[in-house]
Amino acid sequence: MSKRVVVIGGGFGGLAAALRCRKLGFDVTLLERLNMLGGRARVFEKDGYRHDAGPTVITAPFLFEELFELFGENLKDYLNFKSLDPWYRFYFHNGKTFDYRPSIEDTNNEIRKFDETFWEMAKQIPSLIKLKSYLTVSQLVNSKLKNKYLRKAFSIHPLLVGGNPFTTTSIYALIHYLERKWGVYFCMGGTGKIVRELENLMLRQGITINKETDVEQISIINGKAENVVLNNGKKIPADLVICNADPPTVYSEMLPSEYSRDSLLKPKKFTHYSMGLYVLFFGSKKKFSDVAHHTIWMSERYKELLHDIFEKKILTEDFSLYLHRPTATDDTFAPEGCDSFYVLCPVPNLQGNVQWNSEGPKLKDRIVEALDKTIMPGLKENIEAEFWMTPEDFKNDYRSKYGAGFSVAPIFSQSAWFRYHNKDKKIPNLYFSAAGSHPGAGIPGVLCSAKVIEKLIIKDFKVSH
Ligand SMILES: Cc1cc2nc3c(=O)[nH]c(=O)nc-3n(C[C@H](O)[C@H](O)[C@H](O)COP(=O)(O)OP(=O)(O)OC[C@H]3O[C@@H](n4cnc5c(N)ncnc54)[C@H](O)[C@@H]3O)c2cc1C
Repeated sequence: MSKRVVVIGGGFGGLAAALRCRKLGFDVTLLERLNMLGGRARVFEKDGYRHDAGPTVITAPFLFEELFELFGENLKDYLNFKSLDPWYRFYFHNGKTFDYRPSIEDTNNEIRKFDETFWEMAKQIPSLIKLKSYLTVSQLVNSKLKNKYLRKAFSIHPLLVGGNPFTTTSIYALIHYLERKWGVYFCMGGTGKIVRELENLMLRQGITINKETDVEQISIINGKAENVVLNNGKKIPADLVICNADPPTVYSEMLPSEYSRDSLLKPKKFTHYSMGLYVLFFGSKKKFSDVAHHTIWMSERYKELLHDIFEKKILTEDFSLYLHRPTATDDTFAPEGCDSFYVLCPVPNLQGNVQWNSEGPKLKDRIVEALDKTIMPGLKENIEAEFWMTPEDFKNDYRSKYGAGFSVAPIFSQSAWFRYHNKDKKIPNLYFSAAGSHPGAGIPGVLCSAKVIEKLIIKDFKVSH
């Protein structure tokens, strides 16, 4: 009889792990507490506008291709990844812009606007990607670049995966390498389309998917994960359990206390969580054709603002934003003649004391006002169908500890060997395929998590493809 695998959570890490286990011949059941798959990559629809809820930048599409190839299928029969240009547009508080582009020559022209030559910068790239992990991303970038705007543009990446560039280890400068090597893509139909096609692939391969199924506990009997207990009391037996849920939540809420993570190096109270996210979704009755697909809109304050968010954990009047305009590439996200947007604003996680019920609407007004005054004149009269997520929603919907936008933070003491591992130290049949076990790595890291546990499972259960 096939071994029974239970996967807790239907984010990308759960989907990839389920498919890889199925390929090994296991009987796989995936349980997701929400009414759709995708986790942070789920999709919202409102009044004819569609919004990917989270990830929008796809940097290593081959990792998705591999999942289809496992079953002799071709991703290109289902999904179309489009290369973007510019990759990102940076908008600075004084109106200057910088387009980070796929072609080195075009990027060179952009860099010249800031009186720094490309060759000065290009010769630094090898050291940008050398793992001087004792430096922070910001220290590494500042040691190579002089211009204050370029310094911001080239150090911002950790923020996209939950870290403060001033404390995140420079290992994460590798994101530049990932982008240069593989490019920056958008999946036509959105990231949600990838989730849908992976779900179809799972169903074609006979994986059982149960939505609106909340796991309350993992029962450990004789030291092994024996079954998972749902919030309605039902038990689902398992020969091995794979957690896609946030590892700190699994250890503190879903396992008996004697199994809670005992880290000799780092007591639980010193765990650092990523910042919170306020995400504003809206449509506009007019098109803003000059707005790029991805815009990073930066406030005047940089280091100080990040300190307020990450260390002081206070909500300030100013903010920096990431603006997503999928309709720049794909018209199907909005009714004809309209645009669909989301704005991501880094905010303190719930370790701070922000009253989101009252602050949520005020922050929306401040963001709309700021965009209207700068890159989106006329937004105030044309905005419609708006709604938002706060760190409270991240906590309630994804069971993310402290409502952290990206689980634990990608700092040195929580990365590489120090991170949550892909397999529990005491429970031999409990595995993790989740962002929290690869902090700061985004979708590529999560998909790689599933590859790691596939290798572990092959060894532990003596199976092969
Ligand atoms: C706004 C935003 C923008 C981002 N942008 C990018 C980007 O552009 N590019 C990029 O690469 N990455 C990006 N990321 C990061 C990326 O989204 C994550 O790294 C990745 O989606 C995490 O996948 P996951 O499978 O680990 O977790 P999740 O997507 O969080 O999935 C975990 C799932 O487990 C479920 N779950 C939890 N507890 C239980 C339980 N007890 N029972 C059943 N189910 C449970 C949750 O409901 C959830 O569906 C972004 C993230 C956010 C929030």
